[in-house]
Amino acid sequence: MKVTEPDKQYNTHNALKQVNIELKRWSLQGFSISGLSTYFQIPELDLCIDMGECPMSALSLNHVLLTHSHGDHSRCLMRHNSLRRMMQNPIQAVYYIPEPVYALAVDMIKAETLFEGVSEERFDLPRLESVRAGKSFELAYRKDLEVFPFNVKHSIPAFGYTVFCKKKKLKKEYMECSREQIISLKKSGVEITNNVRQPMVSFMGDCLGESLWEERHIWNSLAVICECTFLDPDEAGMARKKGHTHIDHLAQVLSRVGNSMACQNIILTHFSMRYSKKRVLDVVNEVIPEEFRDRVKVFL
Ligand SMILES: [Zn+2]
Ligand SMILES: [Zn+2]
Repeated sequence: MKVTEPDKQYNTHNALKQVNIELKRWSLQGFSISGLSTYFQIPELDLCIDMGECPMSALSLNHVLLTHSHGDHSRCLMRHNSLRRMMQNPIQAVYYIPEPVYALAVDMIKAETLFEGVSEERFDLPRLESVRAGKSFELAYRKDLEVFPFNVKHSIPAFGYTVFCKKKKLKKEYMECSREQIISLKKSGVEITNNVRQPMVSFMGDCLGESLWEERHIWNSLAVICECTFLDPDEAGMARKKGHTHIDHLAQVLSRVGNSMACQNIILTHFSMRYSKKRVLDVVNEVIPEEFRDRVKVFL
C-alpha cells in the first residue's frame, strides 16, 4: 500500500504542534496562524492569552486574557474550564473578557453548556472578569503582575494588553546606605522603597498596523508580540480591509519609533496560512530594517 507523505505545510499549520520561544526571563509557547488558531502560554507568569485551541499544557495556568471574540482566538475558552473541572483542579481559573463583548460571552458560555446537556438549574458560570480599556487590574493569583488593557483597531472590538511586573525599589536618597543602615531604617518604620512597575510584555492581538504606532507605549515593554498577517507588497489593501497588520506597516513603525525603544524581543505571529515558513523568513529578512533584525523572532 502506498502511504502518502504528509504535506510539509501541514506541520506549520497543525495548531496542536506548539512553537516554543525561550526569552531571558520567561518562555512563550503556543501557536498562531491567521484564521486557524491563536493561543499563547507564559508559564512563568501563570498566563494564557487567547484560547483558539486548548492543549494540555494550558490547563495548569490560572489566568486567561482574551483579546477579541473571533473564533480562532476564543473557541476553546470553556474547554479550558471544563477540562480543569474534569481533572478536579481546586482553583477556579479567571477569564478576562473585553467589556464590549462580555455580555455576549456570558450568553455564549451558557448556550454552550446547555448544548452539552446541562440543565439550566445546574448551569454555573465560570469566573469571568469584564475588563475595560485604560483600566489596569491585578491578576487574581499573581498580585505581583498588573495588566493594562487598551483598544486596538480590528474588524470587531479588540484589546491589546501590557503586563507589568510590580516591584519595590529602594528610594534614591537611600541608595548609598550600608546594609546595617537599611536594616535600622526599616526597623524604625521609615518607608525606604517606592513601588515601580516594569512593562514586561505587550500583546497586540489582531490589529491594523497603525495601532502599533498609536499605542506606542508597547515599545517600552521588554517584549512585544504582534501580528503580521500579510507579507506580499500587493496585500496592503487587504490588510486594511480585514483589520490586520502588513509587514511594510510594521517596518515603518519600527523606523519611526527608532532604536531608543526598550523592547528587546519582537515576536511576529498570526501569518496568513498561505505562506510557507521559508517565505515568511525571507520576507522578514528583506523588509525589517537591519537594526531591528536581531530582535525579531518569527513564531512558527
Ligand atoms: Zn486572528
Ligand atoms: Zn480577529
